Amino acid sequence: MSTPLDLSAFRRELHAHPELAGEERETAQRILAVLKALKPDGLLTELGGTGLLATFGKDEAGLQVMVRCELDALAIPEVNDFEHRSVIPGKSHKCGHDGHMAILTGLAEKLSNKRPARGRVHLLYQPAEENGTGAASVLADPRMKDRHFDLVLALHNLPGYPLGSAVVRKGAFTASVNSLVITLQGRTSHAAEPEHGINPALAVAEILAGSQALQHNVPEEDGLRVVTVVHVDLGSKDYGISAGRAEVHLTVRCWTDAELRQLEQEVQQLARTTAGKHKLYVDIRRCFTFQANRNEDAAAELVEQAVRSTGHALVPRAHPFKWGEDFGLFTARYKGCMFGLGAGEEHSALHNPDYDFPDALIPHGVAIFEAAVRQYLDG
Ligand SMILES: [Zn+2]
Ligand SMILES: [Zn+2]
Repeated sequence: MSTPLDLSAFRRELHAHPELAGEERETAQRILAVLKALKPDGLLTELGGTGLLATFGKDEAGLQVMVRCELDALAIPEVNDFEHRSVIPGKSHKCGHDGHMAILTGLAEKLSNKRPARGRVHLLYQPAEENGTGAASVLADPRMKDRHFDLVLALHNLPGYPLGSAVVRKGAFTASVNSLVITLQGRTSHAAEPEHGINPALAVAEILAGSQALQHNVPEEDGLRVVTVVHVDLGSKDYGISAGRAEVHLTVRCWTDAELRQLEQEVQQLARTTAGKHKLYVDIRRCFTFQANRNEDAAAELVEQAVRSTGHALVPRAHPFKWGEDFGLFTARYKGCMFGLGAGEEHSALHNPDYDFPDALIPHGVAIFEAAVRQYLDG
């Protein structure tokens, strides 16, 4: 057995060197250096771009477990001034993916010291979670084609919950999310003669107001419907021109994929009707999709058992979380469970500029993952 890893120091090193979705080359190199010393039984690099897959155990015929973390940081300037602050201007780890990577690496160390006798464990360091493309690109990698996983697991840290407490749900864990880009094409004219053009401004106003009226933003209840305006673009800053074109960018989210399709149709109908009324051409594009994470009952029970057996508290939660998570693509394909791990009740929220993953949480995540994985493989 080699010297134990200093996972807090490793987490801080990752925190200081954040990279955005799809660019995580250096981050992957830092992880690769640590992983190699742990001598995994299999190792894939550049998976779906910058991803890594480290395998522990040699039993190809037995049960296959995959545990995932994310590599990417965000385009948010860090306001903290502690020693391990981001050295890259305008970028920082504000979702705690640095901590998730440290947890997975701690799990790698445990599996390296005591290799699974039956089955195998695959640790996935996934790129580009924040823009919703990473899980898809990993699954599309030709080297993933013939792989099957019997169980997939992931966690996300949860500010607002007691440190080390766990939120495990059966069914949906996160919302279904989609983005809609509505383009309205009219006709420019002289600003003095708006009657000779078709200005989309009023239609934009109607679409904004109408889409907000479709909401039921009560996360404590069934039937969540959230429509968020993220960007509007109308005309240009040329004071002689009456605007002729506009774009409205919205995100829509619901608890289930079926409810999301319904809400999207209503938004699209609103856009088409409004455009028709104002004699505008309309084009609607969907992007940035996150499928809801669907936790399988037995997988959720396994994680609950792991939480209890490692002395952690379970916090009930009646409804899923409103954010999207591309781990939903894995749970759509394989049985699995994504769960939440409390980061502290007073901890600053995810994506806040002063957020920093709490190092004290690392051993809790490692312990719960290890218990779940060994329980599953050893039966
Ligand atoms: Zn995030
Ligand atoms: Zn995240």
